[in-house]
Amino acid sequence: MPADSHSILASNFKDEPYWWEAFRPLQLIAPSLPRRTDVVVIGGGYAGLATARALADGGVASVVLEAGAFGCGASTRSGGALSAGLSIGKSFTGRTLDYSPALVREAVGRAIDAYRALADLVGQESIDCHLEQRGRFLGACAASHFDGLRDRFDKLRDGGATDCRLISRAEQREEIGSDFYHGGMVFETAGKLHPALFYAGLLAAARRRNSIVLAGQCRARQLARNGDGWRVTTSMGEIVARHVVVATNGYTGDLTPSLQRRLVPIASHIIATEELPDSLVRELCPKGRTFSETRRVLHYYRISPDGRRVIFGGRARFTEIAAQRRAELLHRALVQRFPQLAGVKVTHAWQGNVAFTQDALPHAGEIDGLHFVLGCNGSGVSMMPHLGDALGRSIAGRLHGRLPFADAALPAIPFYSGKPWFLPLIGGAFRTLDFIDERIR
Ligand SMILES: Cc1cc2nc3c(=O)[nH]c(=O)nc-3n(C[C@H](O)[C@H](O)[C@H](O)COP(=O)(O)OP(=O)(O)OC[C@H]3O[C@@H](n4cnc5c(N)ncnc54)[C@H](O)[C@@H]3O)c2cc1C
Repeated sequence: MPADSHSILASNFKDEPYWWEAFRPLQLIAPSLPRRTDVVVIGGGYAGLATARALADGGVASVVLEAGAFGCGASTRSGGALSAGLSIGKSFTGRTLDYSPALVREAVGRAIDAYRALADLVGQESIDCHLEQRGRFLGACAASHFDGLRDRFDKLRDGGATDCRLISRAEQREEIGSDFYHGGMVFETAGKLHPALFYAGLLAAARRRNSIVLAGQCRARQLARNGDGWRVTTSMGEIVARHVVVATNGYTGDLTPSLQRRLVPIASHIIATEELPDSLVRELCPKGRTFSETRRVLHYYRISPDGRRVIFGGRARFTEIAAQRRAELLHRALVQRFPQLAGVKVTHAWQGNVAFTQDALPHAGEIDGLHFVLGCNGSGVSMMPHLGDALGRSIAGRLHGRLPFADAALPAIPFYSGKPWFLPLIGGAFRTLDFIDERIR
């Protein structure tokens, strides 16, 4: 470990999510599994729980299988930032995809729908998760990136995102206490919440519905066709079901090879700082925005719900790394953006997996008779529950209209079998290209 990494760790440092101070994943082990059910949902994150909730409200019984404790996946680990479409078309290969105007319109529209649906869900289930709707600032990391933002701005406006605006470098200090960026873009239809408390509320909503069986520590191990339906072998025995929904996102494994090879799992890492003085927090974040940026290896950050800490994340590495290394890399990036935080210590550092798709769109649909809701592309706090809800309604025969992105099938990724051996190479290349953009060009 490099010498300075010790000095940035607080004496009470924890290698787990800051969010777990408020809600820790729940074991919820079912005494036994029913032999039959209408739907088996595999994965107990936002997507799986929202699917089960919509099924229950449509009179359809389900069993939610969760390989670990409920909440052990990405859903209690995120930054909790809610965006409505800023990263549209950004591929994991670093390219910006050339969406048709119709697809941009759909992507913006669906992102706004998801954002609004989240606020409705929080209200309907009385979830106390510190939801704040205070917009996002997207910073341009190089002068050339600001020109790219102009293009993106035009596309977003044409696609229906009417409340975004460009911010010049001279205006930037009104948005963020940093001179790191070359201007940026503000998007008002964005906000933040406490991701683990939101998860806890969704879990409580599932527990209130008698037709949902929640089976924690119960891994789906094998799937086989059984007439029109499925036989699911789990670590607790077999279940026969009419439908199976796969909601495993960044943790999708070889249980579903046809889905695994359509998803690239990428690790995302986060730290929480120790508590900061009020005046410093107001200087860093005068309007309560969330922050993101235009780099290939981007960082995203915000202030914690109690207004005392910076929660700072990024793809410091695209794969899992040791907690101290994660803290050191992210702390360095934090101080580049906010030199005022040079002496501030890190109290928590953690990571989780997100899943990227080749077309950078999230998907809900059906392949080989399996339903799925997958591919958050790094932004799933509002989108994955929204897609899960739509899929659950669709299976229950209660969806008005079509599933989101119904015209875009989840694409296979050429020459890829589901094992992302190339991630360290892509990560290294991106860091070099970012360095060239920011320091040399
Ligand atoms: C560090 C980090 C920061 C992020 N920040 C943001 C953010 O600021 N804003 C935003 O919008 N999004 C963010 N995201 C993304 C967001 O968290 C995810 O999109 C969302 O939580 C995905 O929910 P999910 O239900 O699809 O998957 P998950 O919550 O990951 O749940 C999948 C579950 O499937 C289970 N599973 C896998 N295989 C099996 C099996 N065979 N049997 C049973 N269970 C199985 C896993 O144990 C896991 O619990 C972030 C993600 C990470 C990791």
